[in-house]
Amino acid sequence: MPEIAVFATDLHGEIQNYERLLDVSSGKKVGAVIIGGDIAPFLSAIGDIATYQREFIEFYLIPRMKEFRRKTKKDVFIMMGNDDVKINMGLLKSGEKKGAFKLLNQKVHRIGDKFLAGYSYINEAPFLIKDWEKDEKDIKADLSKLAKLSDPKKTIYSMHAPPLGTNLDVIFSGEHVGSSAIRDFIIEKQPYMTLHGHIHESSHMTGNWKDVLGDSVSVNPGKGNILVFDLDDLKTMNVLIA
Ligand SMILES: [Zn+2]
Repeated sequence: MPEIAVFATDLHGEIQNYERLLDVSSGKKVGAVIIGGDIAPFLSAIGDIATYQREFIEFYLIPRMKEFRRKTKKDVFIMMGNDDVKINMGLLKSGEKKGAFKLLNQKVHRIGDKFLAGYSYINEAPFLIKDWEKDEKDIKADLSKLAKLSDPKKTIYSMHAPPLGTNLDVIFSGEHVGSSAIRDFIIEKQPYMTLHGHIHESSHMTGNWKDVLGDSVSVNPGKGNILVFDLDDLKTMNVLIA
């Protein structure tokens, strides 16, 4: 039986989009749910961002994912993105210990007969939170370590930043702002598949949520949208628009 995986990114604490994701993921054939960064809300009317994000993780994300996993027995994989403050990583780790999800950043897990690895860091950008920013040289070094943990040709990489110069990294001005280290990594290692987010508007700008570098298929479904794909057949994948 084909195993279906579901990927969403840049949910930014929007409960409506989380609930829609879990609804789609409840389908019988779905084996795994992957959440690719920028998980917590960004704007807050009062209080500081770390507290606001902590409350979202503690009172919604962890109990909700725990309940979903208990009911469905499906795997949930999650990682932070550049808009998630790092100080709450301890809380996410406690969620992992409680069985709510498995953490992805710089780790490898089994998914069907493939591997799933994650990478939260983005290349330098003019945003407020700097917790998950690195220069291209350091991203390159991290990715070469990550590539040693599994066979890239059998691995799906969830990387928050998209590869530079593709359909997946175009901002409103028309400029490409993705990571050159991520692009080089894909060209050199030829992963089975890569999943991205971060640039919410890119699929609107380019008219494409998919791109191909060599034999590697890369997707950035856009903020809150849901990618549904067959782990063994990437030709049939589909994006459900939020
Ligand atoms: Zn985002």
